[in-house]
Amino acid sequence: MIKIKGKSVCGGIAFGKIFVYSREQSTIKRCHIPSSEDEIARFEHAREQARAELEELYKKAVGEVGEANAMIFRIHQMMLDDMDYLESIKNIITDQMLNSETAVGLTCDTFVQMFESMDDSYMRERSADVKDVSERLVRILEGKSRSAIVSDEPVILAADDLAPSEIVQLDKNKILAFVTAGGSSTSHTAILARMMNVPVIIGMKDAFNPELHGKEAVIDGFTGTLYIEPTDTVAAVMQAKLRETEKQRRELEKLKGHPSITKDGKRIEISANIGNALDIETVIRNDAEGIGLFRSEFLYIENRGYPTEDTQFAAYKEILSCMSGKRVIIRTLDIGADKQINGKYPQANEPNPALGLRAIRFCLSRPDLFKTQLRALYRASVFGKLGIMFPMITSEWEIVKIKELIEEVKTELTKEGIAYSASVELGCMIETPAAALISDILAKHLDFFSIGTNDLTQYALAADRQNPEVAQYFNAHHKSILRLIHIAVQNAHKNGAWIGICGELGADLSLTETFLALGIDELSVTPSAVLPIRRKVLETDTSVVSDGLLNEIWN
Ligand code: PEP
Ligand code: MG
Repeated sequence: MIKIKGKSVCGGIAFGKIFVYSREQSTIKRCHIPSSEDEIARFEHAREQARAELEELYKKAVGEVGEANAMIFRIHQMMLDDMDYLESIKNIITDQMLNSETAVGLTCDTFVQMFESMDDSYMRERSADVKDVSERLVRILEGKSRSAIVSDEPVILAADDLAPSEIVQLDKNKILAFVTAGGSSTSHTAILARMMNVPVIIGMKDAFNPELHGKEAVIDGFTGTLYIEPTDTVAAVMQAKLRETEKQRRELEKLKGHPSITKDGKRIEISANIGNALDIETVIRNDAEGIGLFRSEFLYIENRGYPTEDTQFAAYKEILSCMSGKRVIIRTLDIGADKQINGKYPQANEPNPALGLRAIRFCLSRPDLFKTQLRALYRASVFGKLGIMFPMITSEWEIVKIKELIEEVKTELTKEGIAYSASVELGCMIETPAAALISDILAKHLDFFSIGTNDLTQYALAADRQNPEVAQYFNAHHKSILRLIHIAVQNAHKNGAWIGICGELGADLSLTETFLALGIDELSVTPSAVLPIRRKVLETDTSVVSDGLLNEIWN
């Protein structure tokens, strides 16, 4: 037996044969061309064909994994129109009189290098998309046909890495699990693979070994382990784990459609956090009661610049429409500190970015950009039940200023004859100690609060959420955090606002009883945590835990 460890992206157990996927390697032939005009025409022809192929893939993906997840192929199509990308290719053709394949290859290398050198992990992962689009163009230019992964029986697919387009081309009935040598858990590839709801392990350096092809294996997606030719004992343990997983899954499935009500009759809304329209499929599959946090920054990151009002409108409209009337809370742009959007945003080189011009502070310093987002949000508001939330609030004047800008936006829209909903809810994140402590004042202006425990912990405990050196100080269970949460809950309720938690702590099952006893109305968590939290809510009787708990927090 061989045991290989990697990083789990999606849990589950699967038994089957390994299929080592290797794609045809092509080395680009570099040659000089007689006419740059003819060569550009040849490139344009390939670009059109690539666009058509991506359209086909998009349609196939919509049917298989839903519109939101198919979006990656729209993004690839947009990349085919990226001005910087095209300009670089065409300049190489005209200035150096080189063939299109070489021009695409060189441009791809430059862009990949640029993305890979970025601090932001999301941007680093975009290099895979550049490679995917460029390889498609080169293949078309070389006149080669599309490759597909073929196997007669369901297999555990092992690859160095898989491009999103390769995943979509797979026959889903033939895939038991994925194991890849490279990859990262937030890449589009991982997202698409996760949507297929099969075990997925990445970063298994040794898995991509042609000698493993055809060997019997079992994958444990929970621990990120692949056993090749497992011993009888390991196989028996895995069979038992598989039966238990199935049982757990069936039990949780029964909770779908079930309202989340505590034993003492308190209704809790369990919503999902998303960072990307691609996540909506899992939100729906896990029966989330709404979206409690849509981190709108992704739109800005994907557009590699400020998205236009129309681009934003289309994205917000899609999310609201997909959620069919369930509440969708969209957080306005939250950049700065841990969420840098490299190269595009004119932020000063701040000595202490976590305490700098970030999130709402940046937006209030650029009302033009902020109003573009607000206009897009209000235009989209007629397509569902929208809540707008503001990040990093510390003072009442910020809310007053935001509301003035909102009034300006509404007046403009009315003048232009553009409809918007009159019942958009407004709320803010409670992610600074200041916001928690003046939540009585803030609540008078707002409909809801959502507690961002990631930043609240960072700011209350003066411990950088990014810095592993101070991990032991970043203790979200600290009494100070629970006290701040309690203060915010009481102030919200006294002033007629509802309050939820959207930070990572919201999914911590060891604190669910505490949160409910404190009076939290909503928990917004990663989609796969929705049903386990619902189970916990159904088991909880807040009247039993309340008194002792408050004593513990305050004494
Ligand atoms: C938080 O700070 O808890 C939060 C939900 O926001 P983010 O993690 O996006 O900063
Ligand atoms: Mg935050």
